Amino acid sequence: ELEVIDAAEPTIKAFLKVAGEAALEQADAFDNLSDAEKAELPELAGVPIAIKDMIVTKGIETTAASRILEGWVPPYDATVIEKLKAAHMPLLGKTNLDEFAQGSSTEHSAYQHTANPWDVERVPGGSGGGSAAAVSAFEAPLALGTDTGGSIRQPGALTGTVGVKPTYGGVSRFGAIAMASSLDQIGPVSRTVLDSALLQEIIGGHDKRDSTSIPQGPRPMAKAAREGMNRDLKGMRIGLVKELGGEGFQPGVEARFNEAVKKLEAMGAEVVEVSCPRFKYALGAYYIIMPSEVSSNLARYDGMRYGLRVMPPKDVAQTAANMMAYTREAGFGDEVKRRIILGTYALSAGYYDAWYGSAQKVRTLIIEDFENAFKQADVLISPTSPSTAFKFGEKMDDPLAMYMNDIATIPANLAGVPAMSIPAGLSDDGLPVGIQFIAPQQRDEVMYKPAAALE
Ligand code: GLN
Repeated sequence: ELEVIDAAEPTIKAFLKVAGEAALEQADAFDNLSDAEKAELPELAGVPIAIKDMIVTKGIETTAASRILEGWVPPYDATVIEKLKAAHMPLLGKTNLDEFAQGSSTEHSAYQHTANPWDVERVPGGSGGGSAAAVSAFEAPLALGTDTGGSIRQPGALTGTVGVKPTYGGVSRFGAIAMASSLDQIGPVSRTVLDSALLQEIIGGHDKRDSTSIPQGPRPMAKAAREGMNRDLKGMRIGLVKELGGEGFQPGVEARFNEAVKKLEAMGAEVVEVSCPRFKYALGAYYIIMPSEVSSNLARYDGMRYGLRVMPPKDVAQTAANMMAYTREAGFGDEVKRRIILGTYALSAGYYDAWYGSAQKVRTLIIEDFENAFKQADVLISPTSPSTAFKFGEKMDDPLAMYMNDIATIPANLAGVPAMSIPAGLSDDGLPVGIQFIAPQQRDEVMYKPAAALE
């Protein structure tokens, strides 16, 4: 992998930091284990993995692709990193993302643009474009991402990789840099469905350091994926979500989606159409709730504690407030500032009920829509993203066009249900298309079976 990284990085730029020597030491440590010791470890033991730079790694600079954290070396590991180390999985390095995971193209990184390995003039999606590109370009067999509104699944779709957002609370968020805490979830990126299942079993489970962690062990996901590989889906009801398709979705995406549905039927699944009428408000609610939480979570970058500190110029009063203002002005990029301002406004006294309060009510309606849908189907299906990979710069001046990328992925975050994207062939433009499966809360294994069957 390190050789592939050397060869690919000048064009792909998936990594912000490659931890080559440390990874080799970890690989040696694994090789030196006895066969008896190796037999105790999970199947993925010894397999190297890349980590989105939104997850803290002890001794390895962690920046969230922001200038405000430049040079920050965490003194501790995220829970998921501890678990990877316990499983003897070498850490290859930290991957690029949109600053603080805010974006859908990785172009909002303060450091570099990551190219889509399928066409280097196009974006790899975002915010986890680095992790997806690293796996797609064979620089890493596995990666971790974070998904607040689609940042694992949409890059998965655009790069032809598998990306999973587990049930909210199924994987510890301890050590995941907070974007919007009620939506954030760490999850796997891989080339096969089974790899993601095995990885999710390693990183999942209860953690008392995360107060939203669900007190139960990981679900039997690898077993479900293996069952799916028999390509027999008799007795499974798959719900086609009417609202997640049609207008705004590229014809090439729809065509691959319809073929996937036919294949699922051919394997014995019963496909029914379900309606989630309140999903049309999901994007609007997300862009109130998410910036509100962002404005609160990012208040901690005050120049006092982490990374960057910019002192005011000599002719300006040397107060702490001015230091904070200069630090945040210099340290945050435009998109992050846009969201902090939006969120601060939505939460301000006088507007709180109208914006934040209404958005929370919509969130409840979306949960209800899912509950109804899961009465008619075991698992839901939709295209992951309305389009294939777009060109650099194409959507940078139009935040709304950028936000539309997540129209199909956001409902799962609002409801906390698990969802994953798997590759479903190429569109007419020769670029990968992703199909999304969504399962009921805490039943992550349910989506692994049809996903592995379709793969
Ligand atoms: N693209 C979405 C956004 O910009 C999702 C981000 C994410 O999942 N981290 O908010």
